[in-house]
Amino acid sequence: MAEESVKLIPLGGLGEFGMNCMAVRYRDDIVVIDAGLMFPESELLGVDIVVPDITYLVENKAMVRGILLTHGHEDHIGGLPWILSEVNVPVYGTEFTLAYVEGKLEEHKMLDSTELIEIAPNNKFTIGPFTIEPIRVTHSLVDCIAMAIETPVGVLVHTGDFKIDLSPPDGKAFDLHKFAEYGQKGVLALLQDSTNVDRSGYTPSEWAVKPRLDEVFLRTKKKLFFSCFSSSIYRIQIALDLAHKYGRKVAVVGRSMMESSEIAQDLGYLNLPPGLTIHPGQIGDYSPENVMVLISGTQGEPMSALSRAAVDNHKHARISPGDTVLLSSRVIPGNEKSIYRVIDHLYRREAEVLYDDGSMG
Ligand SMILES: [Zn+2]
Repeated sequence: MAEESVKLIPLGGLGEFGMNCMAVRYRDDIVVIDAGLMFPESELLGVDIVVPDITYLVENKAMVRGILLTHGHEDHIGGLPWILSEVNVPVYGTEFTLAYVEGKLEEHKMLDSTELIEIAPNNKFTIGPFTIEPIRVTHSLVDCIAMAIETPVGVLVHTGDFKIDLSPPDGKAFDLHKFAEYGQKGVLALLQDSTNVDRSGYTPSEWAVKPRLDEVFLRTKKKLFFSCFSSSIYRIQIALDLAHKYGRKVAVVGRSMMESSEIAQDLGYLNLPPGLTIHPGQIGDYSPENVMVLISGTQGEPMSALSRAAVDNHKHARISPGDTVLLSSRVIPGNEKSIYRVIDHLYRREAEVLYDDGSMG
């Protein structure tokens, strides 16, 4: 008799950056963890996005029971519309993650045909032979989870992306105890995020950037363009707090930044003092030192608001000599060229440019 086994089939994200997708199979039941996409490197000219090869899922369609999401970053949910169009199964995610997913599915006119199931840390649920327990982890985005997946042959622990933030701004702590508990009971396989494993030491808390950002606000004399990942909700909150502190009105510019901040506000992850935000069309009504523009495009994405502003081609976000542009995010490997191209253009606008030189975190 063949020995019982659980199979792990990586469809993307293993040995590469992005496009996270892993199938877990026990006998005739499959669950999929994450459904990400990858943004193409420049040698893939004319390619907009790269999605995992899901031939395995399509060939075993009848066995696929659901897609489990660890968090809402594009490299974990961006491939959903493509996978769901081939394999329509329920999608499981936390409240915030599903809010991102809803927007994405709506865009692809797939929201009505998809079953979304909300899950929460510590609430176990069962899919076929798998019992899954979501575990709270901290990351640069909010409402992220790891998962312990009990199978008939043992427990798998999938961490998703994480950094252990001991003082997360939203107070939802990394559940180290739960990991210890599973460790004590015994784990068959640990699947772990490996970004930056080659760096020693600790990743500072999201709060750690605040003093440095405060200094930037203090020094900035004219308009401040603040750019970060639209999903970096903690970072956005810090920027909003500082704008409030320094008497700057905030205009949110760029589609992803607008959508993301709206979702975060609706779900209570962003707190805005009343009257802080203004419509981008009103930027000119205020003197430059009283304006912050929260703008998307921190990775130099060609069609982003920041890229267009950098070549003086954005209706509302006009960068004038002496304005400051802060790129408050790390450089994703592979994006260097497009980021530095944007920075070159920003200097042509005679802006002061502050970007990640390894110190911004
Ligand atoms: Zn992530």
